[in-house]
Amino acid sequence: MRPVLAAALPHFGEEPPLTGERGAGTIFFAGCNLRCVYCQNHQISHGRLGEPVSSEDLAEIMLDLERKGCATLEPVSPSHHLPGLLEALAIARDRGLNLPLVYNTNAYESPEILNLLGGIVDVYLPDLKYASNYFSREYSAVSDYVEISRAAVKAMHAQVGNLVLDLHGHAVRGLIIRHLVLPENVAGTDETLRWIKENLPETVTLSLMAQYSPLHEAKQFSRLDRRITRREYDGIVDLAWEMGFENAFVQEFTSQDVGIPDFELNKPFCWD
Ligand code: SF4
Repeated sequence: MRPVLAAALPHFGEEPPLTGERGAGTIFFAGCNLRCVYCQNHQISHGRLGEPVSSEDLAEIMLDLERKGCATLEPVSPSHHLPGLLEALAIARDRGLNLPLVYNTNAYESPEILNLLGGIVDVYLPDLKYASNYFSREYSAVSDYVEISRAAVKAMHAQVGNLVLDLHGHAVRGLIIRHLVLPENVAGTDETLRWIKENLPETVTLSLMAQYSPLHEAKQFSRLDRRITRREYDGIVDLAWEMGFENAFVQEFTSQDVGIPDFELNKPFCWD
C-alpha cells in the first residue's frame, strides 16, 4: 500500500543538531497510531489529509530535501507507513542519499518494528509522553503506553547509543528523548525523568518541550485547557539539572507563541 504523504519540507524548529543551517528534511505522513486530544497536527494525524505517493516519488522527495541542504531526513510518526518508507529510502540510498535518518516517533513502537529498523535508523527522536496509563488512555486512546514506550526507548538506546555529532554540530547517530510538558503534570515529568535516570546513562540527551497549547479537542478537558506556566517549566528544567542530566535541550518559554501548523496551507512551523 502506498504511503499517504501530507507534507515534506525543510523544518527549522527542530533541535539544532537536526536542523543545521538549512532545516531538518521533515516528511509528514497521514495518520498516527495515537489519538491525542491535543494534537497540533490533527489535520493530518486524525483527519488523514494527504495524497498517496509511490516509492519512486517519495525517493525523489528525499533527494530533493538533501539538494535543498537539509541536515537530516526526518519522517514523522511513520511506523504505519513503514513498507513504503523503507522501499523509498532504499531507492534514494541507491541514488546517493547521504543524510542521516531521524525517526521521529511518539515512542509507542513495537519491538518487531524496532528490530526491523536496526541498522537503518541513525537517530531516534521519541517523545516520551506519559508516565501513567490512566492519562494515556484518557488523552491518547491507548492503555499500555507506559510499558510499550519505555521498552521502546530502551531498545532505541541499545541500537544507537548516545547522541553523536559531526564537526559541524549535526547529528549523525544516537538518541534524543523528547518530553512535552503538559499542564497539571499530566505528562508525569518527574516520574519520567526518574525512569530515564534509572534506566539510561545520565549522559543521554533530553529535549524538554514547553510548547504545549490546548489545540484540537483539548479545551474539552479541564486538565488540558491551558498552556503551561513559566513556573511549571522552570521547575522541570531545574529538576533535570538537579537529577544530574548533563545534556538537555531547553526551549525558550516564548516558544509557546509559535504559530499553529496549518497543513492545508502547507505552512512550516517552529517550536523554538
Ligand atoms: S502522537 Fe503526536 S502526531 Fe500522533 S496524535 Fe499524538 S500528538 Fe498527534
